[in-house]
Amino acid sequence: SKMSEKLSTFLESGIYRFEESNAVFIDPVRVLNRSYNRFKVSPSVYYSRFFESKHTANETSNSRKRKRKQKKSHTLNERERAADQRHQEVRPLLLEAHETLLRATDLLVAISNLRDCSGSSPSKCRGLSSSSIEQSFVELGRVWQAPLYEITLKFHPTNKTHEDRGSLIMENSEQRVLPVFDNLIVNETSDDVEAEFLNSQYILPRESCFYMVCSWLNLLFSSPEASNEATSIKLKIHNLIPAEPDCGFNLIVIDPPWENGSAHQKSRYPTLPNRYFLSLPIKQLSHKEGALVALWVTNREKLRGFVEEELFPAWGVRFMATFYWLKVKENGSLINDLDLFHHRPYECVLLGQCHGEMNPKDLRRFEIVKDNQIIISVPGDYSRKPPLGGLLLEYVSGLNPTRCIELFAREVMAGWVSWGNEPLHFQESRYFL
Ligand code: SAM
Repeated sequence: SKMSEKLSTFLESGIYRFEESNAVFIDPVRVLNRSYNRFKVSPSVYYSRFFESKHTANETSNSRKRKRKQKKSHTLNERERAADQRHQEVRPLLLEAHETLLRATDLLVAISNLRDCSGSSPSKCRGLSSSSIEQSFVELGRVWQAPLYEITLKFHPTNKTHEDRGSLIMENSEQRVLPVFDNLIVNETSDDVEAEFLNSQYILPRESCFYMVCSWLNLLFSSPEASNEATSIKLKIHNLIPAEPDCGFNLIVIDPPWENGSAHQKSRYPTLPNRYFLSLPIKQLSHKEGALVALWVTNREKLRGFVEEELFPAWGVRFMATFYWLKVKENGSLINDLDLFHHRPYECVLLGQCHGEMNPKDLRRFEIVKDNQIIISVPGDYSRKPPLGGLLLEYVSGLNPTRCIELFAREVMAGWVSWGNEPLHFQESRYFL
């Protein structure tokens, strides 16, 4: 039947497109697995947060009651009213997308099984890693020894035909030792590469690169009166700016470490004040024929205003569309009440076009990005976003090959450059089968 055909496409690609709808369901594990040949992302580790015990579910509903009470006791200020209006506008679309999901009964069964690693023994299901200490790259990058840390890439032995001899010989597996911080590390091969760093193992997908910045130099250069973090970010990304403009990136995904606002809601990574992002060299990173820029934002109204009025103009980005990431649990229900003011069960991605070095008037037109698309998925770890590459690539199809970069990344994907202070985070073997 038509339905099961859709489901089998989903089981293969991780993407389920609802018919006559602006919504898709994605399974990030399946999407990410398309980056690997010999390894598999562990679904039980990826989804450990939202397939959880009753205990935590109770906690959520308690905090929900608290929030409702709070809301009643004060009237909305101007900014909150603006945020509420934004919410009311998108609310019917999100509800409709959610109802579409709830009608796709075969998909719902697949969602309830997302965490199973079929064909694997329970012990294998736990992930590859034996070590229990998780490396904090952010911490390591702060110590003076950071520039001395090295990573060992262990290339898999491959069968290579030596044409001169016409015979098939097995090459010895090759090792490469490289500085891990402030260095562009490339797996240019078409196979996964295992890497070792401080007794932990990491997996690097084929045709991928990462650039991990360390922050100890910031301390050296910063003066008490002027913070130099912004300059430093600029300098460190400058290493990725292509020498030739037609080598620039045509897909740029950015998930900045925005500040939270509420002091008690502390973040698990360092954050930066908004003004620091103004100096990101998005224009210089862009392909001369332009780039599609996807920026993750939080639901804070103040931030939305900043992006629309200051950040996009400063980057030379013209706003095109908003996508919504709607978060559901394994039973298909929303992770929170849709109307919960400070804990909306959705986040936004703002899409724009950066016109690079070209006069905006001569700009090659990108495929029209349809506004208000909704991406539904079960969330992984804290702040981990679903991979958008597969959905966004169709809009940059005119430019070949597509060059993709993710800024502030915590993972590495085939065909992408990842930049940030911890792009190896989710590459640790514990996240793999
Ligand atoms: N998109 C990621 C994911 O799905 O897992 C989450 C990115 S998180 C919102 C922001 C990241 O920026 C964190 O990894 C944080 O450590 C990093 N970061 C914070 N300050 C930074 C800086 N000055 N330079 C580079 N990265 C920084």
